[in-house]
Amino acid sequence: MKPDLFEAPDYYNLDDLLTDEHKLVRDAAREWVKRDVSPIIEDYAQKAEFPTQIINGLANIGAFGPYIPEEYGGAGLDQISYGLIMQEIERGDSGVRSTASVQSSLVMYPIWKYGNEDQRKKYLPKLASGEWMGCFGLTEPDHGSNPGGMVTNFKDMGDHYLLNGAKMWISNAPFAQVAVVWAKNEEGRIHGLIVERGMEGFSTPETHNKWSLRASSTGELIFDNVKVPKENLLPNKSGLGAPLGCLDSARFGIAWGAIGAAMDCYDTALRYSKERIQFGKPIGQFQLQQKKLAEMITEITKAQLLTWRLGVLRNEDRATSAQISMAKRNNVDMAINIAREARQMLGGMGITGEYSIMRHSMNLESVITYEGTHDIHLLITGMDVTGLNAFK
Ligand SMILES: Cc1cc2nc3c(=O)[nH]c(=O)nc-3n(C[C@H](O)[C@H](O)[C@H](O)COP(=O)(O)OP(=O)(O)OC[C@H]3O[C@@H](n4cnc5c(N)ncnc54)[C@H](O)[C@@H]3O)c2cc1C
Repeated sequence: MKPDLFEAPDYYNLDDLLTDEHKLVRDAAREWVKRDVSPIIEDYAQKAEFPTQIINGLANIGAFGPYIPEEYGGAGLDQISYGLIMQEIERGDSGVRSTASVQSSLVMYPIWKYGNEDQRKKYLPKLASGEWMGCFGLTEPDHGSNPGGMVTNFKDMGDHYLLNGAKMWISNAPFAQVAVVWAKNEEGRIHGLIVERGMEGFSTPETHNKWSLRASSTGELIFDNVKVPKENLLPNKSGLGAPLGCLDSARFGIAWGAIGAAMDCYDTALRYSKERIQFGKPIGQFQLQQKKLAEMITEITKAQLLTWRLGVLRNEDRATSAQISMAKRNNVDMAINIAREARQMLGGMGITGEYSIMRHSMNLESVITYEGTHDIHLLITGMDVTGLNAFK
């Protein structure tokens, strides 16, 4: 793969809106991605393997629980810092960002928000340091966009719960020590349970043959009469709103992350357009290529403004789920379109692993699907503005 010469576009001087702490956190993540992710990621994507050696580095840049309080091992940062870290990681690879998002927003967040003090103290510091990795089990083979229909269930057996069912498409599942699993009790109410690797009847077979997020490990979670200790139930929130609250946090991170992927594609195409000579001139001198670049930087700039504002609203605890849906949908769509255009600008070279664009393009096919598909987020916006529910 080519050396990582990335220079971040900032067309509207958005750095002026960031604090010194934001820039410090962002720049540390950017440097780490250049040094430890870019040189190896293409190989791992080709091998369809998650590079476990970067787990320490992810922990060191604060990617595991950026906004979790320091007393639990988190970095105690604000939401914009969290977003910037996700942006920089996804600039390297969406699969690596997925691992960090799951750990922070889908495992640490529910333990912090819905768990008790014992659970926080037991799990959060180990998850923040990367000593333990986690996964989040919501999707099932027959329930994806409609997780409320889930059939995974648990029964109260007096001194423990008995968990049965299966989850599918679970990021980090094959190597995670801890799974936050959403299941229905005997009354049909959804609760979160912490399931640990090694519990009898719990297995995590890996999902193979993915053309997307190849450097992220995906698997199933199978529960065959798993005895879960009663103290592993998350006591402070139940119902579908509990997993959806985690998804708000993760989707916010994805909205920032997608900008990272788009910036990398744009920056690569811009550099290539000045170096590649056809018909005696750099291809960047042709109007058609300039149109592509001009539209890319316009869309990136709009997305940067959207997420920065959303970050301010999140910091003030005022962002709605629908606002987060809009940003996730817009930014991932923006990134996937930029990846497609940028790939074309590189001609044949665009399809090789010499450049990151094709990998980003394929990765974004997962990102536009998980955490609520493109169409589902549109329906959420539609419901928000009309007050009419298209899901029923
Ligand atoms: C690589 C990868 C990693 C993932 N990681 C995780 C994870 O860690 N944890 C987890 O729980 N899940 C995870 N997922 C699952 C992901 O969230 C689901 O794939 C996603 O929610 C869509 O569900 P589905 O695949 O079952 O598609 P379906 O729900 O079957 O949707 C199929 C199509 O129908 C459309 N559709 C569905 N309902 C409607 C409707 N009411 N109106 C209009 N159109 C509709 C959808 O938009 C989509 O286009 C992951 C998925 C992938 C691909």
